[in-house]
Amino acid sequence: MPDREARGGTLVLGGGFAGSYVARLLGKRGATIVSLENFMLYTPMLPEAASGTLEPRHVVVPLRMMCPHADLVLGRAVAHDAGRQRVQVETGEGLVNLRYTNLVVALGAVSRTLPIPGLADYARGFKSLADAIDLRNHVLRRLEAAAAAPNETHRERELTFVFVGAGYAGVEALAELSDLVRDALRYYPSLRETRQHWVLVDAAPKILPEIPRRLGDYAAQQLAGRGVDIRVGTTLEEVGPHHALLSDGDRILTSTLVWTAGVRANPHLRELGLPIDNRGRVLVDGTLRVDGVPHVWALGDGTRVPNEATPGEFDPPTCQHALRQARRLAKNLRGEPRPYRYRMLGQVATLGRYKGIADVLGIRVRGFPGWFVTRTYHLYQLPLLSRKLRVVTDWTTSLFFRRDIAELGMLGHPQRLGDV
Ligand SMILES: Cc1cc2nc3c(=O)[nH]c(=O)nc-3n(C[C@H](O)[C@H](O)[C@H](O)COP(=O)(O)OP(=O)(O)OC[C@H]3O[C@@H](n4cnc5c(N)ncnc54)[C@H](O)[C@@H]3O)c2cc1C
Repeated sequence: MPDREARGGTLVLGGGFAGSYVARLLGKRGATIVSLENFMLYTPMLPEAASGTLEPRHVVVPLRMMCPHADLVLGRAVAHDAGRQRVQVETGEGLVNLRYTNLVVALGAVSRTLPIPGLADYARGFKSLADAIDLRNHVLRRLEAAAAAPNETHRERELTFVFVGAGYAGVEALAELSDLVRDALRYYPSLRETRQHWVLVDAAPKILPEIPRRLGDYAAQQLAGRGVDIRVGTTLEEVGPHHALLSDGDRILTSTLVWTAGVRANPHLRELGLPIDNRGRVLVDGTLRVDGVPHVWALGDGTRVPNEATPGEFDPPTCQHALRQARRLAKNLRGEPRPYRYRMLGQVATLGRYKGIADVLGIRVRGFPGWFVTRTYHLYQLPLLSRKLRVVTDWTTSLFFRRDIAELGMLGHPQRLGDV
């Protein structure tokens, strides 16, 4: 099995928010990144990629462009030998051993699922670019199915969309996709009289628990004003191909159930032999060093990160925190390790086109100003000038032209030569 040394001695597992920023901030010191994809996904813009406001390619940043001094190994970390300081990686060309002086573990999280009948078979996730593109194509196909449906009951079923999980991902995805459907329906005159039904379900007593109550209430009001049926304090009990059963006893006829009910630490972390808590998160000290394992560091959604600014609390799984952790860790790898400390400056979220909410340094804005602040913040955070310009171009174009409603489900599945 080939055996090689990580560039600059630093091996970074995971090319998501946390891993890519550590490698980028290490600059010329160099690093080797191991990742399943060759890009970093800018998740806050994923809902806009799903709705077609942004071109999906523009919400990802190629790792080789973002981290020009890093090597990239496309593959999956499958085993770790802490004593010999090496990680085994499964690549398309076979297994390879990578040696390190410092190992950075940033494998992130996966969707948290529950043993609900039908969930694995009939629900759709919203975590990756593939999920966003799949959901967009699915939603557009529902419009075709509704247009071809034999009666009103079937038409209404196809235009009913249930989202379970009212955190950032669920709320933003629902808002963006309902805008997409509203715009697309202009081209379906036969569906003008059909009722659309958007349902947002959450077990918690309110939506967007991450943000201050006043803004959360405003978001709920905005969504309700647009006809979104918000069911808080409610859980999903069962899903089928054409129904969702809720704990309030309602059996909703639908062909679309989107599951955005939180994340859990990447289960592959268990294969690396690192100390983890009962939620599968890697245990680190205040400097992000893994407890009791020399030369190994961890950060991001898959890690239980103590924060000096919020004693007794661990960081929530957000990219804001992953980015700040990455800044601290890059400094700790270069010099004397110091504790990680970050106080959140604010929170932002969009509620579809031209509506948003933002709480920055205690100043709360909503509606169009909230949308503008949210977009400006994300544009500022997005790495690479070329990416920022592409995104601004998409936003500007969408001001003047109608939304694209092409359904490109065939992408990545070309017809085989000879098939007719
Ligand atoms: C739809 C959506 C919207 C969001 N919106 C916001 C928002 O508005 N604001 C906010 O602050 N946060 C938001 N988040 C949360 C944010 O995306 C995460 O907190 C952030 O991505 C965490 O970074 P990470 O590096 O820990 O994990 P990730 O970014 O998930 O990266 C994990 C990386 O590990 C790689 N990997 C996984 N397994 C292996 C393996 N075995 N071997 C090698 N590589 C592997 C993956 O390929 C990936 O590159 C959102 C999340 C989603 C899903």
